[in-house]
Amino acid sequence: MHTKLLEVTNLVRRFELPKRLFSKQQRYIHAVDGVSFSLGRAETLGIVGESGCGKTTLSRAMLRLVEPDAGKIVFRGRDITHLSKEELRAERRHMQIVFQDPFGSFNPRMTVRQLIDEPLSVHTSDDAATRLEKVRDVMASVGLDPRLSERHPHEFSGGQRQRIGIARALILRPDLIIGDEPVSALDVSIRAQILNLMKQLQAEFGASYVMVSHDLGAIRFICHRVAVMYLGRVVEEGLTEDVFREPLHPYTKGLIDAVPLPRLRPERTRQLLVGEMPSPINPPTGCHFHPRCPVALKQCRTVAPGFTDLGGGRRVTCHLYAPTNGGHEPPPAEAGAKSS
Ligand code: SF4
Repeated sequence: MHTKLLEVTNLVRRFELPKRLFSKQQRYIHAVDGVSFSLGRAETLGIVGESGCGKTTLSRAMLRLVEPDAGKIVFRGRDITHLSKEELRAERRHMQIVFQDPFGSFNPRMTVRQLIDEPLSVHTSDDAATRLEKVRDVMASVGLDPRLSERHPHEFSGGQRQRIGIARALILRPDLIIGDEPVSALDVSIRAQILNLMKQLQAEFGASYVMVSHDLGAIRFICHRVAVMYLGRVVEEGLTEDVFREPLHPYTKGLIDAVPLPRLRPERTRQLLVGEMPSPINPPTGCHFHPRCPVALKQCRTVAPGFTDLGGGRRVTCHLYAPTNGGHEPPPAEAGAKSS
């Protein structure tokens, strides 16, 4: 049983858009629209969804790298939602982020030693010799030869650069690491190495991960639990194997059926996603997914579904699973459902 490290409640982040000519109406992109979840210690939560679903904004808002407009973030038992910059800086040493393209976030003039050492210099009072020893240790932990520490990032391969990014995130032994598509840009074999490394380091250091990705294979491999996002909202959440074996929300079904993952339930009819994700500036009324949903009910156009808790950490926002519609067993698809 995981004790809670992070609790996010009703987080909202919207971005103001310039007003249209001759219009007084303020327009917004609703990037994160009332998201709640929790994360246990040494647990990995995957956040998945198509591009534009709000997962990247969510990952930054939970670290307050972008400021949320509403909601609450409790980290290590402390409400950090309204901490001052100075107070937040002290908390930041316990939370780190690994980006998809670490090269883009590195200063190319700095050596690998300087890059990995930087968080130590900022957040600790360790002397130079102690810091050097820690840099060498963490390089060895992520499978980088410490003798290469005076080289620059451009002298390394993509997989090695991602290891540098992970070493930099790990050097302070944080409680929480957010991975923002950390393996999406890597070749398949390197991707497997990095995912295995992350699993191994979690077992060793006990850090918790939030993995933000559209790569369902990586999510399934590394995450204990998964939350599926659509247009700024979580539509389904549960243990990874439960969600992949028996996706409940029609969007989750479409997302999983769109990739050639091994079929755990070959008897289930494939249900492909149709159409594009609507604009987050003017999301559809009722259930945001209703224009693409092959099994939409009449009420879906006007009434937004609330969460139905199915037990065992499984929850879903879909009228099909509301107790008034029979609970866990969804009614049969309406005529016109698109499947293959
Ligand atoms: Fe489809 Fe309605 Fe469920 Fe939304 S609430 S996913 S439209 S059935």
